[in-house]
Amino acid sequence: MIVNIDGLEVLFPYEYIYPEQYLYMLEVKKCLDAQGHGLLEMPSGTGKTISLLALIVAYNRSNRSKKPLKLIYCSRTIPEIEKAIEELNKLNKCYDEYLGSKGLKNDFLGLVLTSRKNLCINPKVSQEKDGRVVDSKCFSLTASYRRRKREDVSGVPGLSDAPSEGCRFFENFDSLESKTLVPPGVYSIDHLKDFGRRKSLCPYFLARHAISYANVIIYSYYYLLDPKIADLVSRELSRQSVVVFDEGHNIDNVCIESLSVILNKKIVEKAEENINVLKNILSDVRMKDESRLREEYEALVQGLREASVNRSTDMILSNPILPDDVLEEAVPGNIRLGEHFLNFLKRFLEFIKTRLRSPNVTQESPASFLKDISQKACIERKPLRFCSERLQSILRTFQVNDITSFSALTKVCNLATIISTYTKGFSLIVEPFDDRTPNVSNPIMTLACLDATIAIKPVLNRFQSVIIT
Ligand code: SF4
Repeated sequence: MIVNIDGLEVLFPYEYIYPEQYLYMLEVKKCLDAQGHGLLEMPSGTGKTISLLALIVAYNRSNRSKKPLKLIYCSRTIPEIEKAIEELNKLNKCYDEYLGSKGLKNDFLGLVLTSRKNLCINPKVSQEKDGRVVDSKCFSLTASYRRRKREDVSGVPGLSDAPSEGCRFFENFDSLESKTLVPPGVYSIDHLKDFGRRKSLCPYFLARHAISYANVIIYSYYYLLDPKIADLVSRELSRQSVVVFDEGHNIDNVCIESLSVILNKKIVEKAEENINVLKNILSDVRMKDESRLREEYEALVQGLREASVNRSTDMILSNPILPDDVLEEAVPGNIRLGEHFLNFLKRFLEFIKTRLRSPNVTQESPASFLKDISQKACIERKPLRFCSERLQSILRTFQVNDITSFSALTKVCNLATIISTYTKGFSLIVEPFDDRTPNVSNPIMTLACLDATIAIKPVLNRFQSVIIT
């Protein structure tokens, strides 16, 4: 049926519309007209998702002369994402019929973007149950330096350390000249995988690339709110986008979780092992291929942005919201050389260890932590800020295959970067015992984000309309 919402003709794929849905659509339209943000409440189970989708898709179609708005619909769980895509599919079929009856073609494209774990079709990788292992295996097949290495040794028979073969689904995708090849339609996870299998193309990279030309993208909150992945996945979205956060009551938690870091004794020990492994690799690289270290050094002098080219497949996490000007800066001299950086991390870990030995529960602000670490360990704020990205640079330079095995050190570096970037909205808490076993020493350090606005603010600033519902 067609509903008139304040002068806008909205195609609605059901025979009946509740008064609440009608009112809700009126408010969504007001938000879009004003090009502002909105906070809209509607009880669950009253058809909120379809009301939103129907209104925004109709709004877009009516504004075709202007630059079309892209709808980014964020939900929290896979079942919620699948439900939204089902509704979108229903709506799109309605448009197929409606436009078909007028002799017009429907060129709408809507799709799901989710993790490699849900989209991978390479049998050697997709059988893994743990998402981090899938990411890591995919990375080892598609990282730019692995592929370069394969090219270098191709045609050299019997070379002993020739890297394993890549992923043909990725190679096929990468060799396409025009990548705008997902035809119009609505694609759920299964549809994307079917399409990928039929064309022998990786559904994950297809979907990531389709973000730039799809009308509607449905994905997880984390792709926009977690700064460690948002920069990688959502960097290219234009300001002319409407972002919807469904089940908005979850936002606070997601924002806070994505910026909080927890360290315990085991993680610290593992991080120390990670440093030792990296030191060994460093001496190896120095003996075999010193030019790689020199290249890295030069890139770091230019700034982090320069050092992080080639990253569309190199899925190593990006920095936790480093301001743009910092990315342009040269990496501080005392952590530019690999061995200096590793020694710096070692000293930082020693300091963390002394904190974990505290017999009482302690709580302090980032400012007090930074003052203390400067006085007692001569570690300054600036190099700490760069730790997260500096680590990723070293992992790339060393061409590390299994990045998940460095997750402990990554956590430590994230803590260093976050605590030195934000002086407000965080608290560092050390608890010597776990509540469940109050007599056994089991220290835990939590860098707790207390202010959800830190993660959501860049999203509100960046997009024309953000609707939390
Ligand atoms: S490129 Fe795609 S299909 Fe290949 S391993 Fe990675 S996610 Fe799987």
